[in-house]
Amino acid sequence: MRRLPLTLLAASLLMAVGTASAADHDTTIPAAAVHTAEQLRDRALQDNTGYQIVTSLTTEIGPRLAGGVNDQRARDWAIAKFKALGFDKVYTEPVTYPLWERRSESGSIVAPFPQHLVLTALGYSPGTPKGGLTAQVVQFASLDALKAADPANLQGKIVYVGYRMQRTKDGHDYGMGSAMRVGGPVLAASKGAAGYLLRSAGTDAQERIAHTGVTGFKDGAKGIPSAALSNPDADQLERELAYGKPVTMKLDLDCGIVGQYTGANVIGEITGSKHPDQVVAIGGHLDSWDPGTGAIDDGAGVAIAMAAAKLIHDLPQRPDRTIRVIAFANEEMGLWGGKAYADKHAAEVGKFQLGTESDLGAAPVWKMSASVKPQARGAIEQIAKVLEPIGVTYDAKRPGGGGSDLSQMHGKGMAALSLEQDATYYFDWHHTANDTLDKIDPKQLAQNIAVYAAFSYMAAQADGDFGSAPDAFAGDGSKE
Ligand SMILES: [Zn+2]
Repeated sequence: MRRLPLTLLAASLLMAVGTASAADHDTTIPAAAVHTAEQLRDRALQDNTGYQIVTSLTTEIGPRLAGGVNDQRARDWAIAKFKALGFDKVYTEPVTYPLWERRSESGSIVAPFPQHLVLTALGYSPGTPKGGLTAQVVQFASLDALKAADPANLQGKIVYVGYRMQRTKDGHDYGMGSAMRVGGPVLAASKGAAGYLLRSAGTDAQERIAHTGVTGFKDGAKGIPSAALSNPDADQLERELAYGKPVTMKLDLDCGIVGQYTGANVIGEITGSKHPDQVVAIGGHLDSWDPGTGAIDDGAGVAIAMAAAKLIHDLPQRPDRTIRVIAFANEEMGLWGGKAYADKHAAEVGKFQLGTESDLGAAPVWKMSASVKPQARGAIEQIAKVLEPIGVTYDAKRPGGGGSDLSQMHGKGMAALSLEQDATYYFDWHHTANDTLDKIDPKQLAQNIAVYAAFSYMAAQADGDFGSAPDAFAGDGSKE
């Protein structure tokens, strides 16, 4: 060791001591808070507030396409619901995005064997010219095959990609399915195609129902008409293509971006008694796609977060920190609500104790992972112990991404959980006319609420923080 002047040595020792003591202070959850969390968990399993909330939303409002006829009505509903549930503070924050409209859509095979096909236009798709787009179909088995294609073979054609999504408990194949829908149209447009079709990014095989969803087009001027075929209709198209003769299709889409729209994130809070400025952030997204009533995507998430906070509200005393429930605007067309939220609140990321959003339906949570500072791992294990009896396994090796919109706050440095729901059947109904209330089992929804109520309360009562700080979790490997 080099010799240092005494004063410098003393200063460096002091700093070392200071750093060490801060680093050594483990975040823990007091025993009384663990006990209350267990009670909240058990109470949630017997409570039907969440199911009442999602019933109210899907019945009184129904489909909630961002910027559509029900957008304002849904916001009014959320404000009224937060107030009726007794939240201490209810407010909105504006979110501006391109307004996309769906007016009509149809498609058919013209040759060799004329057939009507069931399809749906994709978000941000422009419409076809008046009278429709009639063009030859060129088939690709994968995005890689499309990437490798010679643009000369695509000019003026309709590109079709026929990837079939597989059903899994963790829903991981949606990564590929959504890439076909988000990136595929952009790739086909860049190579000179006139239109884009995909086999729906969905796991149902026999339902003649197409799955909508967003494309990567943010600027209508650069897009090409894009749509998803139902699985049986994709089968039919592929059978015709297998004859080896040119297949011609007519696509007739009346849709597109018609301007800008300003909606809002709707936020309700249970104000903390000791540290009101420190928040546990939970939520769901208020918008949905238009064919269904947005029950599993994501009325369930809004209901889970609202009902979990309501249980904490009903305790004899307010929690130490604030529980903030965010009903995000326009998640579906590109995390607009989440991005606006993160931009607005990035500078105060250190005040976000812990957060995550529910956006994978209403089936039980079965896996938990976390991105927190090392000194908070013990507290996460305490949370895991309370959740274990209701079927949640803790995976200490994986990061926590914070869910869909709140992934943006996690990207700014918010400590985050991932609470993975069983996604086995979720993608059968996702983004379709079949996303309706009957797909939600009240008991399973209640399990989710038990998870959110228990973890939120423990995080709010923790002695210490979970490591939120600007860019604290950059490169943690989460990418939700
Ligand atoms: Zn969603």
